[in-house]
Amino acid sequence: MSATLSAYEGIVGSAVIRQLRRLGEKLKGTRIVHVNSTREGGGVAEILEWMTPLMTELGLNASWEVIHGSGRFFEVTKSIHNGLQGHSVPITGKDWKVYEDVNARNFERLRPALEEADIVVVHDPQPAPLLKLCERRKGKWIWRAHIDISRPFRPAWKVLRTFVEKYDASIFSMAEFAQPLPHPQYLVPPSIDPLSEKNRDMSPEEIEAVRNGFGLDPSRPLLVQISRFDRFKDPVGVIEAYRMVRKVAKVQLVLAGGGASDDPEGTAILEEVMEAAGSDPDIHVLLLPPDSHRTVNALQRLATIILQKSTREGFGLTVTEGMWKGKPVIGGDVGGIRLQVVPHHTGFLVNTPEGAAHRIRYLLHHQEGIERMGTTAREFVRENFLLTRHIREYLTLMLVTLRDPRANFIQV
Ligand code: UDP
Repeated sequence: MSATLSAYEGIVGSAVIRQLRRLGEKLKGTRIVHVNSTREGGGVAEILEWMTPLMTELGLNASWEVIHGSGRFFEVTKSIHNGLQGHSVPITGKDWKVYEDVNARNFERLRPALEEADIVVVHDPQPAPLLKLCERRKGKWIWRAHIDISRPFRPAWKVLRTFVEKYDASIFSMAEFAQPLPHPQYLVPPSIDPLSEKNRDMSPEEIEAVRNGFGLDPSRPLLVQISRFDRFKDPVGVIEAYRMVRKVAKVQLVLAGGGASDDPEGTAILEEVMEAAGSDPDIHVLLLPPDSHRTVNALQRLATIILQKSTREGFGLTVTEGMWKGKPVIGGDVGGIRLQVVPHHTGFLVNTPEGAAHRIRYLLHHQEGIERMGTTAREFVRENFLLTRHIREYLTLMLVTLRDPRANFIQV
């Protein structure tokens, strides 16, 4: 359950909240339906969890629907996801048929809401075919891509594009992801909810309890990467970096991840991670249930340095979360991590395990650098990556989409 809007005044100021209320008045009663493919696990669910109630509080008639699918469907959509992020994946005609058939079944279930909506925001590739199926739509449809499609595997994008091009607009997290599409494309980076269980302040006792629960040593530095067990998050690369640092400093590593119901690859990647971790008692591989928000919050607060060594990343909410907790982040030099990690100011961007190890060692030798970058990181998030900015941009682009179909490539 998210906090009410006025609760954010203390963090962002009352003028920001007043502006949101004014925007909300202009969209009062607008029926907006978000559609994605999982209720929990991963960044999209994390965002919709607060965005839907806040839009409702602002006077919109907002709802959040989730498409259901078989294991086969999610294998196919994970291949599409991997293809869009640049892996050359074989997706057969049969696979695309499974993709369309499952969407057709979901469409029948969601038909009344989708036909009546003033705005439908479809998140990511999984539910993208819904628009083609909705022949009697009344409203505008927006495709919101959360993943890094800067260099897609062309055959995968070529087919997905046939679904996406029919939308009235699309939203990407950064300009590098924009694609040649026949409609306006908006740039809206994601954000975090500073008052959610994942990000709210915690008492020292709560944090200590998590430290003790996992047997972490308070006297030694702690490296933390929180991520689904996904190849693009490069957890094995993190272990390699840790091993290099370990030769000179007695650090500990937490690799915490959980599953998302729309991500079938987690088990295989987790096995690879376990094998790479071996029997090292200072590598803590944690498989967390999807509602472990408080645990994640505490682990991020316990970290000396946050890692997010992705090789592709749409945005990386875990980076934002770590920065909000006043931590420097060493992140992969890709996608949305580049929007957040400003080298030498909020952390470092790296391309290899060696690069990550080098920056970890540097920070461990510069305690004052850890503190300075952590403070800058928190303020950078306050200015740029809190939910109030995000929701303002969504409301603005909804106004534009409903009123001016000729608008083109706007950063709101
Ligand atoms: N997350 C979590 N538990 C886990 C792993 C991840 O709660 O075991 C959360 C994490 O804190 C973040 C989101 O899932 O809020 C992941 O979002 P991100 O944008 O970093 O990556 P995505 O999974 O969407 O690719």
